[in-house]
Amino acid sequence: MIIESRMTARKMFFAGKWENREQSIIIRDPQDNSIIGTVPAATKEDMLKCIEEAKKGAKISADLPVYKRMEIINKAADYVEVNKEKYAHTISLEGSKTIREATKEVTRAIQTLRISAEEARRINGETISFDQMSGSENRVGHYYRFPIGVIAAITPFNDPLNLVAHKIGPAIASGNAIIVKPATVTPLSALLLAEAFAEADLPEKVLSVITGRGSEIGDTLVTHPDIRMVSFTGGLQAGEEIARKAGLKKLGMELGSNSPAIVLEDADLDDAVESTVSGAFWAAGQNCLGVQRIYIQESIMDVFQTKFVDRTNKYVVGDKQSELTDMGPLISEKEAIRVENLVNEAIEKGATLLTGGKRNGAFYSPTVLTNVPENCTIAKEEIFGPVVLLYPVVDLDAAIEKSNDVDYGLQAGIFTKDLNKAYRAIGKLDVGGIMINDSSDYRIDAMPFGGTKNSGLGREGIKFAIHEMTDPKVVCFKLPNS
Ligand code: NAP
Repeated sequence: MIIESRMTARKMFFAGKWENREQSIIIRDPQDNSIIGTVPAATKEDMLKCIEEAKKGAKISADLPVYKRMEIINKAADYVEVNKEKYAHTISLEGSKTIREATKEVTRAIQTLRISAEEARRINGETISFDQMSGSENRVGHYYRFPIGVIAAITPFNDPLNLVAHKIGPAIASGNAIIVKPATVTPLSALLLAEAFAEADLPEKVLSVITGRGSEIGDTLVTHPDIRMVSFTGGLQAGEEIARKAGLKKLGMELGSNSPAIVLEDADLDDAVESTVSGAFWAAGQNCLGVQRIYIQESIMDVFQTKFVDRTNKYVVGDKQSELTDMGPLISEKEAIRVENLVNEAIEKGATLLTGGKRNGAFYSPTVLTNVPENCTIAKEEIFGPVVLLYPVVDLDAAIEKSNDVDYGLQAGIFTKDLNKAYRAIGKLDVGGIMINDSSDYRIDAMPFGGTKNSGLGREGIKFAIHEMTDPKVVCFKLPNS
Protein backbone atom coordinates (compact mmCIF):
# COMPACT_ATOMS: atom_id res chain seq x y z
CA MET A 1 0.00 0.00 0.00
CA ILE A 2 1.39 3.39 -1.00
CA ILE A 3 0.55 6.14 1.45
CA GLU A 4 0.64 9.61 -0.08
CA SER A 5 3.72 11.60 0.87
CA ARG A 6 3.21 14.37 3.42
CA MET A 7 3.37 17.21 0.90
CA THR A 8 0.80 17.01 -1.91
CA ALA A 9 -0.53 19.67 -4.26
CA ARG A 10 -4.04 18.36 -4.85
CA LYS A 11 -6.36 19.57 -7.58
CA MET A 12 -10.05 20.12 -6.96
CA PHE A 13 -12.76 17.99 -8.58
CA PHE A 14 -14.53 20.46 -10.86
CA ALA A 15 -17.58 18.93 -12.56
CA GLY A 16 -15.74 15.64 -12.98
CA LYS A 17 -12.34 17.02 -14.01
CA TRP A 18 -9.29 17.58 -11.83
CA GLU A 19 -8.42 21.29 -11.98
CA ASN A 20 -5.86 23.63 -10.52
CA ARG A 21 -6.02 27.37 -9.83
CA GLU A 22 -3.34 30.03 -9.49
CA GLN A 23 -4.25 30.77 -5.88
CA SER A 24 -3.99 27.95 -3.40
CA ILE A 25 -4.79 27.20 0.23
CA ILE A 26 -2.17 25.63 2.48
CA ILE A 27 -3.21 22.60 4.52
CA ARG A 28 -1.44 21.94 7.81
CA ASP A 29 -1.16 19.06 10.26
CA PRO A 30 -2.65 20.50 13.47
CA GLN A 31 -0.33 18.36 15.56
CA ASP A 32 2.82 20.32 14.68
CA ASN A 33 1.52 22.95 12.24
CA SER A 34 3.68 21.48 9.44
CA ILE A 35 2.50 21.97 5.85
CA ILE A 36 1.06 18.77 4.38
CA GLY A 37 -0.33 20.02 1.10
CA THR A 38 -2.17 22.63 -0.90
CA VAL A 39 -5.53 22.79 -2.66
CA PRO A 40 -6.84 25.36 -5.16
CA ALA A 41 -8.61 28.41 -3.72
CA ALA A 42 -11.81 28.52 -5.77
CA THR A 43 -13.41 31.87 -6.53
CA LYS A 44 -17.01 33.08 -6.88
CA GLU A 45 -16.64 32.78 -10.68
CA ASP A 46 -15.54 29.15 -10.27
CA MET A 47 -18.61 28.47 -8.17
CA LEU A 48 -20.95 30.06 -10.71
CA LYS A 49 -19.43 27.97 -13.52
CA CYS A 50 -19.61 24.86 -11.38
CA ILE A 51 -23.33 25.40 -10.72
CA GLU A 52 -23.95 25.71 -14.49
CA GLU A 53 -22.14 22.40 -15.02
CA ALA A 54 -24.05 20.79 -12.14
CA LYS A 55 -27.37 21.76 -13.76
CA LYS A 56 -26.35 19.62 -16.74
CA GLY A 57 -25.12 16.97 -14.29
CA ALA A 58 -28.55 16.86 -12.61
CA LYS A 59 -30.15 15.77 -15.90
CA ILE A 60 -27.46 13.13 -16.45
CA SER A 61 -27.84 11.85 -12.90
CA ALA A 62 -31.64 11.69 -13.04
CA ASP A 63 -31.39 9.63 -16.25
CA LEU A 64 -29.04 7.04 -14.71
CA PRO A 65 -31.01 3.83 -14.17
CA VAL A 66 -31.06 2.62 -10.59
CA TYR A 67 -28.87 -0.42 -11.30
CA LYS A 68 -26.22 1.92 -12.73
CA ARG A 69 -26.35 4.22 -9.69
CA MET A 70 -25.94 1.17 -7.44
CA GLU A 71 -23.05 -0.11 -9.52
CA ILE A 72 -21.22 3.25 -9.37
CA ILE A 73 -21.69 3.75 -5.62
CA ASN A 74 -20.62 0.17 -4.87
CA LYS A 75 -17.54 0.60 -7.06
CA ALA A 76 -16.65 3.78 -5.16
CA ALA A 77 -17.07 1.85 -1.89
CA ASP A 78 -14.77 -0.90 -3.25
CA TYR A 79 -12.13 1.73 -4.07
CA VAL A 80 -12.27 3.16 -0.54
CA GLU A 81 -12.04 -0.35 0.89
CA VAL A 82 -8.99 -1.30 -1.19
CA ASN A 83 -7.27 1.99 -0.24
CA LYS A 84 -8.47 2.00 3.37
CA GLU A 85 -5.05 2.78 4.83
CA LYS A 86 -4.56 5.77 2.55
CA TYR A 87 -7.95 7.18 3.55
CA ALA A 88 -7.31 6.67 7.27
CA HIS A 89 -3.85 8.21 7.00
CA THR A 90 -5.27 11.28 5.22
CA ILE A 91 -8.04 11.82 7.80
CA SER A 92 -5.56 11.53 10.61
CA LEU A 93 -2.98 13.74 8.91
CA GLU A 94 -5.16 16.72 8.00
CA GLY A 95 -7.63 16.43 10.88
CA SER A 96 -7.25 15.89 14.57
CA LYS A 97 -8.31 12.24 14.78
CA THR A 98 -5.97 9.51 15.94
CA ILE A 99 -5.20 6.74 13.45
CA ARG A 100 -7.58 4.39 15.32
CA GLU A 101 -10.39 6.96 15.17
CA ALA A 102 -9.63 7.64 11.50
CA THR A 103 -9.70 3.94 10.61
CA LYS A 104 -13.13 3.63 12.23
CA GLU A 105 -14.34 6.59 10.20
CA VAL A 106 -13.21 4.92 6.96
CA THR A 107 -15.07 1.71 7.89
CA ARG A 108 -18.19 3.78 8.49
CA ALA A 109 -17.81 5.70 5.24
CA ILE A 110 -17.68 2.39 3.33
CA GLN A 111 -20.90 1.38 5.14
CA THR A 112 -22.49 4.73 4.28
CA LEU A 113 -21.75 4.18 0.59
CA ARG A 114 -22.92 0.54 0.60
CA ILE A 115 -26.19 1.52 2.32
CA SER A 116 -26.63 4.34 -0.23
CA ALA A 117 -26.32 1.84 -3.08
CA GLU A 118 -28.90 -0.40 -1.39
CA GLU A 119 -31.36 2.41 -0.69
CA ALA A 120 -31.28 3.46 -4.34
CA ARG A 121 -33.59 0.50 -5.06
CA ARG A 122 -36.06 1.48 -2.36
CA ILE A 123 -37.09 4.97 -3.48
CA ASN A 124 -40.76 4.08 -3.68
CA GLY A 125 -44.11 5.83 -3.89
CA GLU A 126 -47.68 4.77 -3.06
CA THR A 127 -51.01 4.43 -4.78
CA ILE A 128 -53.54 7.12 -3.91
CA SER A 129 -57.27 6.50 -3.34
CA PHE A 130 -58.59 9.42 -5.35
CA ASP A 131 -62.11 8.06 -5.02
CA GLN A 132 -62.21 9.14 -1.39
CA MET A 133 -63.60 12.42 -2.71
CA SER A 134 -67.00 12.46 -4.32
CA GLY A 135 -66.66 13.29 -8.00
CA SER A 136 -63.34 11.41 -8.25
CA GLU A 137 -64.84 7.92 -8.61
CA ASN A 138 -63.22 7.34 -11.98
CA ARG A 139 -59.69 8.36 -11.09
CA VAL A 140 -56.69 6.19 -10.24
CA GLY A 141 -53.11 7.13 -9.60
CA HIS A 142 -50.04 7.17 -7.45
CA TYR A 143 -47.03 9.23 -6.52
CA TYR A 144 -43.38 8.48 -6.95
CA ARG A 145 -40.31 10.34 -5.75
CA PHE A 146 -38.10 12.22 -8.14
CA PRO A 147 -34.73 13.97 -7.66
CA ILE A 148 -34.78 17.67 -6.84
CA GLY A 149 -31.79 18.73 -9.01
CA VAL A 150 -28.60 20.33 -7.72
CA ILE A 151 -27.68 19.95 -4.05
CA ALA A 152 -25.08 22.06 -2.25
CA ALA A 153 -23.27 20.18 0.52
CA ILE A 154 -21.22 22.08 3.09
CA THR A 155 -19.26 19.97 5.55
CA PRO A 156 -17.20 20.43 8.75
CA PHE A 157 -13.69 19.35 9.73
CA ASN A 158 -14.41 16.80 12.40
CA ASP A 159 -15.50 13.80 10.23
CA PRO A 160 -13.95 14.90 6.93
CA LEU A 161 -14.77 11.67 5.05
CA ASN A 162 -17.92 10.08 6.44
CA LEU A 163 -19.96 13.28 6.70
CA VAL A 164 -19.13 13.93 3.03
CA ALA A 165 -20.14 10.34 2.17
CA HIS A 166 -23.45 11.03 3.97
CA LYS A 167 -24.20 13.70 1.38
CA ILE A 168 -22.69 12.28 -1.83
CA GLY A 169 -24.04 8.72 -1.33
CA PRO A 170 -27.74 9.63 -0.94
CA ALA A 171 -27.54 12.41 -3.58
CA ILE A 172 -26.27 10.04 -6.28
CA ALA A 173 -28.53 7.19 -5.12
CA SER A 174 -31.51 9.48 -5.65
CA GLY A 175 -30.42 10.84 -9.05
CA ASN A 176 -29.26 14.34 -8.08
CA ALA A 177 -26.11 16.33 -8.86
CA ILE A 178 -24.09 17.55 -5.90
CA ILE A 179 -21.48 20.22 -5.22
CA VAL A 180 -19.48 19.66 -2.04
CA LYS A 181 -17.65 22.45 -0.26
CA PRO A 182 -15.57 20.76 2.42
CA ALA A 183 -14.11 22.53 5.46
CA THR A 184 -11.10 24.61 4.41
CA VAL A 185 -8.84 22.93 6.96
CA THR A 186 -9.70 19.34 5.90
CA PRO A 187 -10.39 19.17 2.14
CA LEU A 188 -8.07 16.23 1.33
CA SER A 189 -10.37 13.45 2.57
CA ALA A 190 -13.29 14.86 0.54
CA LEU A 191 -11.08 15.00 -2.57
CA LEU A 192 -10.07 11.38 -1.97
CA LEU A 193 -13.75 10.47 -1.92
CA ALA A 194 -14.20 12.28 -5.25
CA GLU A 195 -11.31 10.14 -6.53
CA ALA A 196 -13.28 7.01 -5.59
CA PHE A 197 -16.28 8.22 -7.64
CA ALA A 198 -14.05 9.18 -10.58
CA GLU A 199 -12.57 5.67 -10.48
CA ALA A 200 -16.11 4.28 -10.36
CA ASP A 201 -16.94 6.01 -13.69
CA LEU A 202 -19.49 8.44 -12.30
CA PRO A 203 -20.47 10.59 -15.31
CA GLU A 204 -18.85 14.02 -15.40
CA LYS A 205 -20.75 17.02 -13.99
CA VAL A 206 -22.70 14.95 -11.43
CA LEU A 207 -20.20 15.55 -8.61
CA SER A 208 -17.91 18.45 -7.77
CA VAL A 209 -15.71 18.94 -4.72
CA ILE A 210 -14.81 22.62 -4.73
CA THR A 211 -12.10 23.74 -2.36
CA GLY A 212 -12.32 27.28 -1.08
CA ARG A 213 -13.18 29.36 1.92
CA GLY A 214 -16.79 29.57 3.07
CA SER A 215 -16.34 33.32 3.44
CA GLU A 216 -15.33 33.60 -0.26
CA ILE A 217 -17.54 31.11 -2.12
CA GLY A 218 -20.22 30.21 0.47
CA ASP A 219 -22.73 32.93 -0.40
CA THR A 220 -22.54 32.25 -4.15
CA LEU A 221 -23.33 28.60 -3.51
CA VAL A 222 -26.12 28.92 -0.95
CA THR A 223 -27.96 31.87 -2.50
CA HIS A 224 -27.99 30.60 -6.09
CA PRO A 225 -31.56 29.97 -7.32
CA ASP A 226 -30.54 26.80 -9.18
CA ILE A 227 -29.40 25.15 -5.96
CA ARG A 228 -32.51 23.29 -4.80
CA MET A 229 -31.21 22.18 -1.41
CA VAL A 230 -28.45 23.20 0.96
CA SER A 231 -27.35 20.23 3.05
CA PHE A 232 -25.21 21.76 5.79
CA THR A 233 -23.29 20.13 8.63
CA GLY A 234 -21.45 22.47 10.94
CA GLY A 235 -21.84 25.01 13.72
CA LEU A 236 -24.94 26.95 14.76
CA GLN A 237 -23.57 30.34 13.75
CA ALA A 238 -22.79 29.34 10.14
CA GLY A 239 -26.03 27.33 9.96
CA GLU A 240 -28.12 30.33 10.97
CA GLU A 241 -26.31 32.59 8.52
CA ILE A 242 -26.87 30.13 5.67
CA ALA A 243 -30.55 29.73 6.61
CA ARG A 244 -30.99 33.53 6.54
CA LYS A 245 -29.39 33.86 3.10
CA ALA A 246 -30.50 30.71 1.26
CA GLY A 247 -33.92 31.89 0.11
CA LEU A 248 -36.57 29.56 -1.24
CA LYS A 249 -34.88 26.16 -1.19
CA LYS A 250 -34.76 23.06 0.98
CA LEU A 251 -32.47 23.15 4.00
CA GLY A 252 -30.87 20.24 5.82
CA MET A 253 -29.15 21.45 8.99
CA GLU A 254 -26.98 19.11 11.06
CA LEU A 255 -25.71 21.38 13.82
CA GLY A 256 -24.02 21.08 17.19
CA SER A 257 -25.02 20.14 20.72
CA ASN A 258 -23.88 19.79 24.35
CA SER A 259 -25.32 16.35 24.91
CA PRO A 260 -26.34 14.98 28.31
CA ALA A 261 -25.83 11.55 29.86
CA ILE A 262 -27.88 10.47 32.89
CA VAL A 263 -26.47 7.87 35.31
CA LEU A 264 -28.98 6.42 37.79
CA GLU A 265 -28.09 4.50 40.97
CA ASP A 266 -29.08 1.11 39.50
CA ALA A 267 -26.70 1.48 36.51
CA ASP A 268 -23.68 -0.70 35.79
CA LEU A 269 -21.18 1.94 36.92
CA ASP A 270 -18.08 0.56 35.24
CA ASP A 271 -19.91 0.37 31.92
CA ALA A 272 -21.31 3.90 32.39
CA VAL A 273 -17.84 5.26 33.14
CA GLU A 274 -16.27 3.54 30.12
CA SER A 275 -19.01 4.77 27.75
CA THR A 276 -19.13 8.34 29.00
CA VAL A 277 -15.34 8.80 29.09
CA SER A 278 -15.15 7.62 25.48
CA GLY A 279 -18.20 9.76 24.58
CA ALA A 280 -16.62 12.85 26.12
CA PHE A 281 -13.14 12.54 24.65
CA TRP A 282 -13.64 10.86 21.23
CA ALA A 283 -11.96 13.01 18.57
CA ALA A 284 -10.72 15.26 21.38
CA GLY A 285 -14.34 16.18 22.13
CA GLN A 286 -14.81 17.63 18.64
CA ASN A 287 -17.85 15.53 18.01
CA CYS A 288 -21.42 16.78 17.59
CA LEU A 289 -22.62 13.77 19.65
CA GLY A 290 -19.97 14.17 22.35
CA VAL A 291 -21.00 13.91 26.00
CA GLN A 292 -20.70 17.34 27.61
CA ARG A 293 -22.95 17.13 30.70
CA ILE A 294 -23.32 14.10 32.98
CA TYR A 295 -26.15 14.04 35.55
CA ILE A 296 -25.41 11.49 38.28
CA GLN A 297 -27.81 10.37 41.00
CA GLU A 298 -26.52 11.78 44.32
CA SER A 299 -26.18 8.40 46.03
CA ILE A 300 -23.50 7.28 43.52
CA MET A 301 -21.91 10.66 42.78
CA ASP A 302 -18.69 10.10 44.80
CA VAL A 303 -17.94 6.64 43.49
CA PHE A 304 -18.82 7.61 39.88
CA GLN A 305 -16.66 10.74 40.06
CA THR A 306 -13.65 8.82 41.41
CA LYS A 307 -13.93 6.12 38.75
CA PHE A 308 -14.50 8.71 36.00
CA VAL A 309 -11.43 10.79 36.92
CA ASP A 310 -9.27 7.63 37.30
CA ARG A 311 -10.28 6.44 33.84
CA THR A 312 -9.72 9.92 32.35
CA ASN A 313 -6.22 10.05 33.84
CA LYS A 314 -5.37 6.83 31.99
CA TYR A 315 -6.17 8.44 28.62
CA VAL A 316 -3.10 8.49 26.36
CA VAL A 317 -2.77 11.88 24.66
CA GLY A 318 -0.15 12.34 21.96
CA ASP A 319 0.96 11.49 18.44
CA LYS A 320 -2.11 10.95 16.24
CA GLN A 321 -0.34 8.40 14.08
CA SER A 322 0.45 6.03 16.97
CA GLU A 323 -1.93 3.08 17.48
CA LEU A 324 -1.40 3.54 21.23
CA THR A 325 -2.80 7.08 21.34
CA ASP A 326 -6.35 7.62 22.64
CA MET A 327 -6.61 11.34 21.95
CA GLY A 328 -4.85 13.73 19.56
CA PRO A 329 -4.80 17.53 19.32
CA LEU A 330 -7.65 19.90 18.59
CA ILE A 331 -7.96 21.07 15.00
CA SER A 332 -5.78 24.14 15.68
CA GLU A 333 -3.99 25.97 18.47
CA LYS A 334 -6.63 28.71 18.14
CA GLU A 335 -9.34 26.16 18.97
CA ALA A 336 -7.33 24.84 21.93
CA ILE A 337 -7.00 28.41 23.25
CA ARG A 338 -10.76 28.92 22.84
CA VAL A 339 -11.43 25.79 24.94
CA GLU A 340 -8.81 26.84 27.51
CA ASN A 341 -10.51 30.23 27.88
CA LEU A 342 -13.93 28.63 28.38
CA VAL A 343 -12.58 26.34 31.12
CA ASN A 344 -10.77 29.23 32.81
CA GLU A 345 -13.96 31.30 32.76
CA ALA A 346 -15.81 28.43 34.50
CA ILE A 347 -13.07 28.06 37.12
CA GLU A 348 -13.04 31.81 37.79
CA LYS A 349 -16.80 31.66 38.35
CA GLY A 350 -16.46 28.83 40.90
CA ALA A 351 -16.16 25.51 39.01
CA THR A 352 -13.88 22.81 40.48
CA LEU A 353 -11.23 21.32 38.18
CA LEU A 354 -11.00 17.57 38.91
CA THR A 355 -8.38 16.79 36.28
CA GLY A 356 -6.94 18.25 33.05
CA GLY A 357 -7.06 21.93 32.19
CA LYS A 358 -3.61 21.96 30.58
CA ARG A 359 -2.77 23.18 27.09
CA ASN A 360 0.30 22.53 24.96
CA GLY A 361 -0.02 24.09 21.50
CA ALA A 362 -3.10 22.52 19.87
CA PHE A 363 -3.30 19.80 22.56
CA TYR A 364 -5.69 20.22 25.49
CA SER A 365 -5.74 17.57 28.19
CA PRO A 366 -8.96 15.62 28.91
CA THR A 367 -10.68 17.84 31.44
CA VAL A 368 -13.32 17.08 34.08
CA LEU A 369 -15.16 19.83 35.96
CA THR A 370 -17.77 19.85 38.69
CA ASN A 371 -19.67 22.58 40.60
CA VAL A 372 -20.03 24.44 37.30
CA PRO A 373 -22.21 27.51 37.87
CA GLU A 374 -25.14 28.17 35.53
CA ASN A 375 -23.82 31.59 34.52
CA CYS A 376 -20.71 30.43 32.66
CA THR A 377 -20.69 29.84 28.91
CA ILE A 378 -19.98 26.10 28.98
CA ALA A 379 -22.98 25.38 31.20
CA LYS A 380 -25.27 26.09 28.23
CA GLU A 381 -23.21 26.32 25.03
CA GLU A 382 -21.39 23.67 23.01
CA ILE A 383 -17.75 23.26 24.11
CA PHE A 384 -16.54 21.18 21.13
CA GLY A 385 -13.43 20.17 23.01
CA PRO A 386 -12.31 17.51 25.54
CA VAL A 387 -14.18 18.93 28.53
CA VAL A 388 -16.97 17.28 30.52
CA LEU A 389 -19.11 18.59 33.38
CA LEU A 390 -20.33 16.35 36.24
CA TYR A 391 -23.50 17.28 38.15
CA PRO A 392 -25.19 15.47 41.07
CA VAL A 393 -29.01 15.21 40.79
CA VAL A 394 -31.67 14.01 43.23
CA ASP A 395 -33.55 11.78 40.80
CA LEU A 396 -34.45 11.09 37.20
CA ASP A 397 -36.95 13.95 36.91
CA ALA A 398 -34.31 16.47 38.03
CA ALA A 399 -31.87 15.01 35.49
CA ILE A 400 -34.44 15.28 32.69
CA GLU A 401 -35.24 18.88 33.60
CA LYS A 402 -31.55 19.85 33.58
CA SER A 403 -30.88 17.89 30.38
CA ASN A 404 -33.62 19.80 28.55
CA ASP A 405 -32.65 23.22 29.94
CA VAL A 406 -30.43 24.15 26.97
CA ASP A 407 -31.09 25.31 23.41
CA TYR A 408 -29.74 22.08 21.83
CA GLY A 409 -31.18 18.58 21.47
CA LEU A 410 -29.19 16.17 19.31
CA GLN A 411 -28.88 12.93 21.33
CA ALA A 412 -28.85 11.81 24.98
CA GLY A 413 -27.80 8.72 26.93
CA ILE A 414 -29.28 7.17 30.07
CA PHE A 415 -27.79 4.39 32.19
CA THR A 416 -30.38 2.37 34.12
CA LYS A 417 -31.67 -1.19 34.42
CA ASP A 418 -35.22 0.07 35.09
CA LEU A 419 -37.36 -0.05 31.93
CA ASN A 420 -39.96 2.29 33.41
CA LYS A 421 -37.30 4.92 34.05
CA ALA A 422 -35.82 4.41 30.59
CA TYR A 423 -39.24 4.95 29.01
CA ARG A 424 -39.90 7.99 31.18
CA ALA A 425 -36.65 9.50 29.83
CA ILE A 426 -37.53 8.50 26.25
CA GLY A 427 -40.84 10.32 26.59
CA LYS A 428 -39.52 13.46 28.24
CA LEU A 429 -36.06 14.16 26.78
CA ASP A 430 -36.26 16.69 23.95
CA VAL A 431 -33.66 15.21 21.58
CA GLY A 432 -33.41 13.44 18.22
CA GLY A 433 -32.09 10.15 19.67
CA ILE A 434 -31.86 8.44 23.08
CA MET A 435 -29.36 5.70 23.85
CA ILE A 436 -30.25 3.42 26.76
CA ASN A 437 -27.17 2.12 28.59
CA ASP A 438 -24.88 4.03 26.27
CA SER A 439 -23.71 7.60 25.94
CA SER A 440 -25.10 10.11 23.43
CA ASP A 441 -22.11 9.22 21.25
CA TYR A 442 -23.65 6.25 19.46
CA ARG A 443 -24.73 6.20 15.85
CA ILE A 444 -25.05 3.81 12.96
CA ASP A 445 -25.18 5.28 9.49
CA ALA A 446 -28.58 3.83 8.57
CA MET A 447 -30.53 5.35 11.46
CA PRO A 448 -32.37 8.70 11.28
CA PHE A 449 -29.94 11.25 12.60
CA GLY A 450 -30.55 14.88 13.53
CA GLY A 451 -31.69 17.11 16.33
CA THR A 452 -34.34 19.32 17.86
CA LYS A 453 -34.05 23.04 18.75
CA ASN A 454 -30.69 24.56 17.69
CA SER A 455 -29.27 21.12 16.84
CA GLY A 456 -30.81 21.19 13.42
CA LEU A 457 -33.51 20.71 10.83
CA GLY A 458 -34.36 17.48 8.99
CA ARG A 459 -32.61 14.13 9.25
CA GLU A 460 -29.65 12.34 7.70
CA GLY A 461 -29.07 8.56 7.73
CA ILE A 462 -29.23 7.48 4.10
CA LYS A 463 -32.91 6.57 3.70
CA PHE A 464 -33.89 9.78 5.49
CA ALA A 465 -31.46 11.95 3.52
CA ILE A 466 -32.86 10.49 0.29
CA HIS A 467 -36.32 11.49 1.46
CA GLU A 468 -35.10 15.08 1.90
CA MET A 469 -33.33 15.01 -1.47
CA THR A 470 -36.42 13.89 -3.43
CA ASP A 471 -39.91 15.27 -3.92
CA PRO A 472 -43.15 13.39 -4.54
CA LYS A 473 -44.70 13.71 -7.99
CA VAL A 474 -48.40 12.85 -8.20
CA VAL A 475 -49.86 11.00 -11.19
CA CYS A 476 -53.62 10.82 -11.69
CA PHE A 477 -55.43 9.04 -14.54
CA LYS A 478 -58.96 10.19 -15.35
CA LEU A 479 -60.70 7.11 -16.73
CA PRO A 480 -63.70 7.12 -19.02
CA ASN A 481 -67.03 6.74 -17.16
CA SER A 482 -68.04 3.06 -17.22
P1 NAP B 1 -18.27 25.60 10.85
O1 NAP B 1 -17.27 26.59 11.23
O2 NAP B 1 -19.71 25.93 11.00
O3 NAP B 1 -17.93 25.20 9.32
C1 NAP B 1 -18.62 24.18 8.67
C2 NAP B 1 -18.57 24.41 7.16
O4 NAP B 1 -19.32 25.57 6.86
C3 NAP B 1 -17.17 24.65 6.62
O5 NAP B 1 -17.07 24.05 5.34
C4 NAP B 1 -17.13 26.17 6.49
O6 NAP B 1 -16.22 26.63 5.52
C5 NAP B 1 -18.54 26.45 6.04
N1 NAP B 1 -19.04 27.80 6.28
C6 NAP B 1 -18.82 28.58 7.35
N2 NAP B 1 -19.50 29.74 7.21
C7 NAP B 1 -20.16 29.67 6.03
C8 NAP B 1 -21.04 30.55 5.31
N3 NAP B 1 -21.40 31.74 5.81
N4 NAP B 1 -21.52 30.16 4.13
C9 NAP B 1 -21.20 28.95 3.62
N5 NAP B 1 -20.36 28.08 4.23
C10 NAP B 1 -19.86 28.44 5.44
O7 NAP B 1 -18.07 24.22 11.66
P2 NAP B 1 -16.76 23.41 11.98
O8 NAP B 1 -15.96 24.15 12.99
O9 NAP B 1 -16.10 22.94 10.74
O10 NAP B 1 -17.44 22.12 12.66
C11 NAP B 1 -17.83 22.10 13.98
C12 NAP B 1 -19.33 22.22 14.16
O11 NAP B 1 -20.03 21.27 13.36
C13 NAP B 1 -19.74 21.92 15.59
O12 NAP B 1 -20.70 22.84 16.02
C14 NAP B 1 -20.34 20.53 15.49
O13 NAP B 1 -21.24 20.20 16.53
C15 NAP B 1 -21.00 20.58 14.15
N6 NAP B 1 -21.24 19.23 13.62
C16 NAP B 1 -22.51 18.75 13.54
C17 NAP B 1 -22.73 17.45 13.08
C18 NAP B 1 -24.11 16.87 12.97
O14 NAP B 1 -24.26 15.90 12.22
N7 NAP B 1 -25.11 17.37 13.67
C19 NAP B 1 -21.64 16.66 12.71
C20 NAP B 1 -20.36 17.20 12.81
C21 NAP B 1 -20.16 18.49 13.26
P3 NAP B 1 -14.74 27.09 5.94
O15 NAP B 1 -14.09 25.88 6.50
O16 NAP B 1 -14.18 27.55 4.66
O17 NAP B 1 -14.91 28.18 6.95
